[in-house]
Amino acid sequence: MSNDVATEHRGLLLMVVSPSGVGKTSLTRRLVADHSDLHLSISATTRDPRPGEHEGRDYHFVDRDMFKHMVDEDAFLEWAEVYGNFYGSPKAPIMASLEQGQSVLFDIDFQGAMKISAHAPDDAVKVYILPPSLAEMSRRLHARSQDSEEVIAMRLARAKTEIADWERFDYLILNDDFDRAYAELAHIYHAERLKRVRQTWIAPFVKKLTDEAI
Ligand code: 5GP
Repeated sequence: MSNDVATEHRGLLLMVVSPSGVGKTSLTRRLVADHSDLHLSISATTRDPRPGEHEGRDYHFVDRDMFKHMVDEDAFLEWAEVYGNFYGSPKAPIMASLEQGQSVLFDIDFQGAMKISAHAPDDAVKVYILPPSLAEMSRRLHARSQDSEEVIAMRLARAKTEIADWERFDYLILNDDFDRAYAELAHIYHAERLKRVRQTWIAPFVKKLTDEAI
């Protein structure tokens, strides 16, 4: 459609949650790379950068004083403590994307997704990525050798509790095959973008159609 009003959309807040070691980062980074109207929310965190992570691309790495200052300034849409570190989603870039009719993707934990969806129920879409099994998840966590045995046990126990709450999510994707899981995530994004409430160009367009002389 060449009609320029057809580009008017209401963006969505796409939240992708999963236990660690389920491939969430690869799925979300690819979805953002493939869609110019979808922006990754870059969280602020007090944890140290891991090898290969870059300031401003993966996270904004801040110290605890700075994080506290940002909380006091009401700079976060939500923030949470995850495994002893603080993480928060900065409000300003999220609002700027929504104002331009663009969407925002959050690579976020369970509690953060629940907070945002309570805050913006009409805009929030919650997706949970399931591991094929806890044994496979444990294998991946050991393979990436970032965590101690104790932390891995904690992550597995937390995964069990989260997965038991699966009915709080709008969509669930089983990541036993990356390409299929990615296709499902992309379908979810496309279908959500096509929902009537997000196609704000439709009302004036339909009015024009129905006013048309025949
Ligand atoms: P990691 O330290 O492994 O990068 O992230 C640990 C967990 O914190 C992941 O589940 C990640 O999705 C989550 N996380 C990252 N940023 C945020 C945020 O801004 N808010 C919340 N609530 N969780 C976050």
